[in-house]
Amino acid sequence: MTPAFEKLQKHLKQLPGLGFRSSERIALHLLVEKPAQLPALVTALEEAAAAVRRCPRCGNLAEGDLCGICADERRERGAVCVVEHVPDLVAIERSGAFKGVYHVLHGKLSPMHGVGPEELNLAALLERIAAGGVNELILALPNDVEGEATCHYITEHLPKGGTVTTTRIGFGLPSGGGVLYADAVTLKSALEGRRGYR
Ligand SMILES: [Zn+2]
Repeated sequence: MTPAFEKLQKHLKQLPGLGFRSSERIALHLLVEKPAQLPALVTALEEAAAAVRRCPRCGNLAEGDLCGICADERRERGAVCVVEHVPDLVAIERSGAFKGVYHVLHGKLSPMHGVGPEELNLAALLERIAAGGVNELILALPNDVEGEATCHYITEHLPKGGTVTTTRIGFGLPSGGGVLYADAVTLKSALEGRRGYR
């Protein structure tokens, strides 16, 4: 293999879900088998890198000031659904069961893996709540130990004497399952079956 090929493969291998074999296969595909596709991919990567960023309010993907959901006047601003990752938000949106807004943490607390509150989009959530206007916080985080620890952290840090109702969505899923792997019907019933949290 050539140095440039190996460099490309090394970068591909760092992407989630790609190991040595799959990164090698993709690099070969791009450089040798279908090189005509490469310029369009490079352009798409450059355009996405320049245009897409985190929504400063909720952490969702955004182009422009706010993401499409935060900018949508018809959404119920008082109900904030807290999710681990953007694909969880997408799954809930697809279920059509939620008309509020979101907050994406980009992870969950995991001291074992060096993920503390500073590594997550948590301070912005607490600032959002402190600023007022949030009536209900719906914790749609995984029902595993780390998800539970994250829920505890959030409730412990809510403004004292505040009026925010905190609920946790009922999963109807095996322990350890998350929002992303639930089908639309399960998600809809999980949201409808949300319970008061602490
Ligand atoms: Zn947003």
